[in-house]
Amino acid sequence: MKRPNVVILGAGYGGIMTAVNLQKTLGVNEANITLVNKHNYHYQSTWLHEGAAGTLHHDKIRIPINDVIQPSKVNFIKDTVVEIKPQEKTVILEKGEPLSYDYLVIGLGFESETFGIKGLKEYAYSITSINSVRLIREHIEVCFAQYNNEVEKREELLTIVVGGAGFTGIEFLGELANRIPELCDEYDIDRKKVRVVCVEAAPTALPGFNQALVEYAMNHLEQRGVEFKIGTAIKECTPDGIIVSKDEVVEEIKAATVVWAAGVRGNSIVEKSGFEAMRGRVKVQPDLRAPGYDEVFIVGDCALLINEEINRPYPPTAQIAIQMADTCAANLAALIRGKEGELKAFVPDIKGTVCSLGHDDAMGVVFGNHQLYGTQASIMKKMIDNRYLWKLGGLSLVLKKGKLNFF
Ligand code: FAD
Ligand code: NAD
Repeated sequence: MKRPNVVILGAGYGGIMTAVNLQKTLGVNEANITLVNKHNYHYQSTWLHEGAAGTLHHDKIRIPINDVIQPSKVNFIKDTVVEIKPQEKTVILEKGEPLSYDYLVIGLGFESETFGIKGLKEYAYSITSINSVRLIREHIEVCFAQYNNEVEKREELLTIVVGGAGFTGIEFLGELANRIPELCDEYDIDRKKVRVVCVEAAPTALPGFNQALVEYAMNHLEQRGVEFKIGTAIKECTPDGIIVSKDEVVEEIKAATVVWAAGVRGNSIVEKSGFEAMRGRVKVQPDLRAPGYDEVFIVGDCALLINEEINRPYPPTAQIAIQMADTCAANLAALIRGKEGELKAFVPDIKGTVCSLGHDDAMGVVFGNHQLYGTQASIMKKMIDNRYLWKLGGLSLVLKKGKLNFF
């Protein structure tokens, strides 16, 4: 019998864990598995803010794909997906020949969502990939280096604006608060001259999250020099900074660095390929297949899943992407083995949310409603990260890339 072609697009959490699960579950003669990714490495998006601030080298964040897949079981292609043609069961790549599939897994992840706000695409940075965060780290360093080389000493060179106080914005601020004193020492700059401003449109930081934890995060970040502008929306980004508005009062904040961390969407290739999607996210069936395409699975941030308890979508998270990969791989194996009746529905098991506030501080809720603060929360966050590495590549990967410095 012909072996089915399984093609997995994207080696983020959802894609790479589907590939790793399949290589454990299926025998070499059961399927031809192909994984396609833009780069020859998998990166942990959940650590990108550390690379952006310069508190963690980007090589710690990325993992060579060949370190975790077995070439005898998974064929890796380094290429960029340009389009999926679901009617023809084909994937168009930038460089290579089109790939045909019997089963497809879409795990192309997230992109920055700028909501059409003027100037953001041109002048703001975003925390979305290894390349984007290397640029942020370098840019901030160049600004600090430039400051003392100019006669007029422009303070905007030392002003960093972070758009959005969602989890990404808050975690990035925590890292910046650690990094700024180091940069000030390195470039002979008075810490008081540096401004780190977070602009959040909603009436609170981390809208919808536990208020006591939000206050803890804001207080701790403020004590470390972060300025919050809450209830203030970014209206425009310019080469000189941002224009914000609060209660219809418009203000300009001059800044050489603007980092937009105020929203994500699913990969635009999904819509471009004709799938019905909301901001790049397809409302998947319970077994994670795309409506109308029984051979197409969608995992991670390109999948939209409704939390029936509150009738709202689950937030796009790595936690859910990893769990989806387990269900997706099990369902693929069932289909390949002709056991369609054994397809499982995906049921997320949300273990909690922990938000880091720098190297040794964090806060969050775990195991139902148990609140954690400070060092305890920070250790928990590192354990969550190490657990993922264990699942992906075992002890050797934990030892190579794990967070083993708990204090
Ligand atoms: P992604 O991780 O986005 O990976 C997509 C992959 O596809 C990448 O390898 C990319 O290179 C590749 N790709 C994209 N386009 C193409 C193309 N055209 N061709 C080929 N390859 C392509 N969630 C949590 O649960 N906990 C956290 O603590 C947490 N922290 C976060 C911190 C930050 C700074 C950010 C930005 C997000 C965080 N998240 C966290 C959210 C989490 O990172 C995402 O939900 C998760 O990365 C989604 O995983 P994914 O598998 O869908 O895809
Ligand atoms: P988000 O959508 O969760 O937060 C974006 C924030 O930007 C919101 O608070 C929003 O009110 C604000 N905003 C939107 N438009 C604005 C404007 N014009 N001006 C000012 N503020 C504006 O996005 P995110 O923080 O990037 O998170 C993306 C996903 O990743 C979420 O699902 C999140 O849960 C997940 N994540 C989780 C963790 C963690 O668990 N530790 C960390 C980072 C991200």
